[in-house]
Amino acid sequence: MQALGSKGDPLFPTEESLRERLTTVGMYTAISVASSVLITLSILYFTGYGMHRMTIIISVVAPAIIAPLTTWYVSDLLVKIARLEETQRRLATFDDLTGLLSRRAFLEQAEALLKLSVRQRQGIAFVMLDLDKFKTINDQFGHGGGDQLLREFATLVRENVRGSDLAGRIGGEEFAILMPGVTRDSAIPVLEKLRHKTEGHVIHYREGVIQATVSMGVSCADGNTSIADLFRLSDDALYQAKAQGGNKIVSA
Ligand code: GH3
Ligand code: MG
Ligand code: MG
Repeated sequence: MQALGSKGDPLFPTEESLRERLTTVGMYTAISVASSVLITLSILYFTGYGMHRMTIIISVVAPAIIAPLTTWYVSDLLVKIARLEETQRRLATFDDLTGLLSRRAFLEQAEALLKLSVRQRQGIAFVMLDLDKFKTINDQFGHGGGDQLLREFATLVRENVRGSDLAGRIGGEEFAILMPGVTRDSAIPVLEKLRHKTEGHVIHYREGVIQATVSMGVSCADGNTSIADLFRLSDDALYQAKAQGGNKIVSA
């Protein structure tokens, strides 16, 4: 089930999975033929019909034809189900456009990470990020331009946070980062760097140049703060950053 898609096209089985499937088909065919012969011989023996050659030949040939076809068909269905499950899981966990965590996956994982942090008595920072005047970028460059900015901003986020941090796309041009093991004082310089890099990032799109800035609201957890509390605090701080003209980081 594992080695399904080939490099370029997941619809065609790789050589390895083809070999696996042929092995499965061969095995089930052998089992079917053996069972069929055994059942036929038992029936002939117990009913006293005697060992008719033709009956025995049929007991071999019939499953030898039917079993590979049905096994191939069923294994094909199983492969499709596995592929659908994988797609479903990926779509639920990751945002399609940016590859960051989806809102739901982010909040779920954030809750677990916060609990762990509290138990380990570590600091943790929750950051809400919102691209400034994104609507005008969409208006100016079209949705394609806006999408390109979202993708490249997500890359900047990924490049500027630790592997142990969580980063997700919360809504249209809103993102969130959860940074375990940091204090307010150590989180701000990291975020300042991201803010600065965003400001300096240039996207050549069609004939034009897209440049954007980002605002952030940060809050830090003490002992019994929930993700919902942090979300609200960071969102309020983000609102203040916007009220101050954007391209700012405000700490709750
Ligand atoms: P502010 O500086 O106050 O944050 O203003 P803004 O224009 O960034 O924010 P606003 O909430 O007014 O507009 C966000 C826009 O984002 C509106 C919506 O059409 C657009 N948007 C939402 N999702 C997507 C998306 O997936 N792709 C693109 N290109 N645009 C999106
Ligand atoms: Mg917004
Ligand atoms: Mg915005």
